[in-house]
Amino acid sequence: MITLNNGVSMPRLGFGVYQVPPEQTAEVVTEALEAGYRSIDTAKLYRNERGVGEALAASGLPRDEVFVTTKLWNDGQGYDSTLAAFDASMERLGLDRLDLYLIHWPTPARDLYVETWKALEKLYADGRVRAIGVSNFQPAHLSRLIEECGVVPAVNQVELHPALQQAELRGFHAEHGIVTEAWSPLAQGAVLDDPVIVALAGKYDKTPAQVVLRWHLDLGNVVIPKSVTPSRIRENLDVFDFALTAEDIAEIAKLDAGTRIGPDPDAFNR
Ligand code: NAD
Repeated sequence: MITLNNGVSMPRLGFGVYQVPPEQTAEVVTEALEAGYRSIDTAKLYRNERGVGEALAASGLPRDEVFVTTKLWNDGQGYDSTLAAFDASMERLGLDRLDLYLIHWPTPARDLYVETWKALEKLYADGRVRAIGVSNFQPAHLSRLIEECGVVPAVNQVELHPALQQAELRGFHAEHGIVTEAWSPLAQGAVLDDPVIVALAGKYDKTPAQVVLRWHLDLGNVVIPKSVTPSRIRENLDVFDFALTAEDIAEIAKLDAGTRIGPDPDAFNR
């Protein structure tokens, strides 16, 4: 677990459901909960919040044992529309309280993220959500929230993997008490055949995916790998019995090519 800036605990390793087909989501999330995941990351955009809610309800797990994150899609930005979008997400999830609500992208050309954040602050003040954060925010966007609003985001969920290590952004987060959460932590599989990662997998008798997830944890990141394959769902959680050395981390640092899978947050305004 990691402690957020408001004292709430969040699992350091969760399960992401981007691109999990809606009709398969309940089954895959059930698999993840049975494997031991206690944090699920969805979004309105993924069209599978209902499946997440079904799996949570069917699991029989007490509500406070699973940490649920969803995100506001870009077309919902604005004060009133954010409050309405939150209610709609909660209806689909079948929950009355959320653990973490994120603004999915800043979409700077809209220039609505400050008033959108104020709506998240209202949901937080009303006790509808235990923590609020953002996703894909750059330091300039975070600085505006810090200067113009009352609550510092608890989390910034950003693209982060060995090919895009985000050192500057992580430094900014550390300075301001914001937790770094890595999306596409495995670079959607693209870094798993890298010789450095493969060699470390051999050294620790772990798989390349486990080495990359361990690297995130050793950096202090929260991670949310996705898989629909039961054996990989379990494999990705089995990373708590080893740790990389400073030399291993220095080797992985050389893989930082600064290459993105997703769009540039400063230019993405869809
Ligand atoms: P990921 O890096 O988690 O990669 C998932 C893919 O890696 C799988 O589809 C599979 O092909 C492969 N894989 C997974 N486990 C493996 C294993 N053990 N061995 C070999 N291959 C394996 O990519 P992702 O799904 O894009 O990101 C994870 C989560 O991050 C998403 O599900 C979503 O919740 C979140 N996300 C958020 C944003 C955002 O804008 N906030 C964007 C993308 C993803």
